[in-house]
Amino acid sequence: MKRILVTGGAGFLGSHLCDRLIARGDEVICVDNFFTSQKANVHHLLGNPNFELIRHDITHSLYVEVDEIYNLACPAAPGHYQYNPIKTIKTSVMGAINVLGLAKRINAKVLHASTSEVYGDPDVHPQPETYRGNVNPIGPRACYDEGKRAAETLMFDYHRMNNVDIRVVRIFNTYGPRMHPYDGRVVSNFIRQAIAGEDITLYGDGSQSRSFCYVDDLIEGFIRMMDRPKGFHGPVNLGNPDEFTIRELAEHVVELASSRSKIVQARPLPEDDPTQRQPDIALARQNLDWEPQVKLRDGLVKTVEWFRSVDLSTFRAPTPNY
Ligand code: NAD
Ligand code: UDP
Ligand code: UDP
Repeated sequence: MKRILVTGGAGFLGSHLCDRLIARGDEVICVDNFFTSQKANVHHLLGNPNFELIRHDITHSLYVEVDEIYNLACPAAPGHYQYNPIKTIKTSVMGAINVLGLAKRINAKVLHASTSEVYGDPDVHPQPETYRGNVNPIGPRACYDEGKRAAETLMFDYHRMNNVDIRVVRIFNTYGPRMHPYDGRVVSNFIRQAIAGEDITLYGDGSQSRSFCYVDDLIEGFIRMMDRPKGFHGPVNLGNPDEFTIRELAEHVVELASSRSKIVQARPLPEDDPTQRQPDIALARQNLDWEPQVKLRDGLVKTVEWFRSVDLSTFRAPTPNY
């Protein structure tokens, strides 16, 4: 049994990770400030003696004793991270410093949730880890992209200077049950709109692409990366290489939800919105023996089911941007 800290543990990915760790018998401390999540995501774990929930903001220091840390705390949806951009970059940078200071003191392993956004609007396609990216450092996405890039820098500097055992994963668009219905991300928007029979809102003409990974596949990748023997620190891409245009995604959602919604061009493509994104996962295949198993249509069916099963009126929109 290991003692494991999950920052951002009440969020979409964090709550699935807590479930996996608890199910295999670990002791989990979940730390979250509930900016973009709510307790409902971990409510089912609250009575479990191996689970502890702490309301805490990781821009402040944290003193606990654990064997491993998964650092996930950070708003992830564009509307949420752009709502208070200064707080977003503080969360990435000061959060990483605190987590790394903690890991150094207690000699814990750290897995850090980085992102495909470190590649910006990529001019290399698909994106291998060696690609250094095309990020606008002063645009509306910079608080997130540059914050995540700086956090990666901190991970590697603490590793080189203080020998902290770090593992950096770069996550590509991931979806599934417990995505916040009002996070403004494309999968949650389209499913919510399809179920309600509202127009499906394409930004731009929908020809931009993304590659969507089902949450269970991603969590498996996290665990393989953390459990791997010392020596491979990443960064490693985790995502599903099957690439779709946003219009194709809209068509799938409408069909799978048996919806009457119309697909409309609702607004222009947002500034700095990447036009294409697809992970090169050769490194993950080689080092983690990992690749996604769930096809987009199968994952969407499960996600639509979840959206239908919850009462949307019980969700508070974290920001007006959805
Ligand atoms: P999420 O918003 O559901 O989860 C993030 C969690 O962090 C939330 O519970 C939020 O309340 C918490 N949080 C935010 N700021 C905090 C702070 N200062 N202190 C403590 N807690 C804080 O998003 P998610 O999709 O679960 O993302 C989890 C991590 O994975 C993030 O770091 C995100 O950048 C990264 N990621 C996710 C995706 C994706 O497609 N889901 C893609 C790339 C990277
Ligand atoms: N820190 C923490 N928990 C710990 C140890 C450190 O939150 O158990 C924080 C501490 O507040 C500090 C940061 O981690 O701001 C970085 O710590 P480090 O020891 O690397 O640097 P220093 O304290 O020398 O600035
Ligand atoms: N998008 C869209 N309609 C929506 C929400 C998003 O067309 O209602 C587009 C968005 O402009 C982007 C893509 O879908 O091109 C993915 O957006 P998301 O916010 O999910 O994540 P990103 O990959 O941009 O961080």
